[in-house]
Amino acid sequence: MRKWQWNPWHGCHKCSPGCLNCYVYFLDNLRGKDASIVTRSKTYFDLPLKKDRYGNYKIPSGNEIATCFTSDFFIEEADEWRKDAWDIIRKRSDVNFLICTKRIERFNLCVPEDWGDGYENVIIAVTCENQNKADERLPILLDISAKHKYVFVAPILEKVDLSRFLCTEKINLVSVGGESYENARICDFSWICHIKDTCDKYNVTFDFHQTGSNFIKDGRQYKIKHHDEYSQAKKGMEYLKQMKNINNP
Ligand code: SF4
Repeated sequence: MRKWQWNPWHGCHKCSPGCLNCYVYFLDNLRGKDASIVTRSKTYFDLPLKKDRYGNYKIPSGNEIATCFTSDFFIEEADEWRKDAWDIIRKRSDVNFLICTKRIERFNLCVPEDWGDGYENVIIAVTCENQNKADERLPILLDISAKHKYVFVAPILEKVDLSRFLCTEKINLVSVGGESYENARICDFSWICHIKDTCDKYNVTFDFHQTGSNFIKDGRQYKIKHHDEYSQAKKGMEYLKQMKNINNP
């Protein structure tokens, strides 16, 4: 299935250890752009509402849209644009919007008046790359009102213990990934296994979405080409499933 992305604004500010080698900065730099300037998209702001020549939405019903992945949905500069984005999200109740943020502390300032317990078609995902950021951001995620709550441990920088958050039964999914591109920090498979075990213990859906460029397994370091990071992570998922079956026949 095609993966859809909607970036109503672009650009961001580094605010966390996970931002050190941010891919938005890396890719903008290649194009001679300054990623620290946050701009509203002229062409794609209303992408979810765009229709083809037959009058059908270009993004078909039932899809998940990765929202604001070249910025942060809750960044301050977007405060004046966000209301229009919420209007679009409300109109497309037939697709799911995955909003991933490192600024969950701004969440309650940024939701629309009719948010209530949350929109059914919005998933709020918090990124935490190390224990410190998990301990800082996840209590806020547990506290806010949202119908679906995900945790992205990406780029994972160390072993992270999520037990005290996952035992609450308020987190629907945890997805883990390593860092990409130049100067990527290592991603150790033992950290992935640890989070998978915690997810299994508390019945939380787990995903390992990318290995990162510098991957360590059983003490051996591998350089992974960017386009192979996703397929290699899939193999890692298969391996974890097999291990589970062997240990729980
Ligand atoms: S919050 Fe995300 S998009 Fe913004 S600088 Fe950090 S890694 Fe990049």
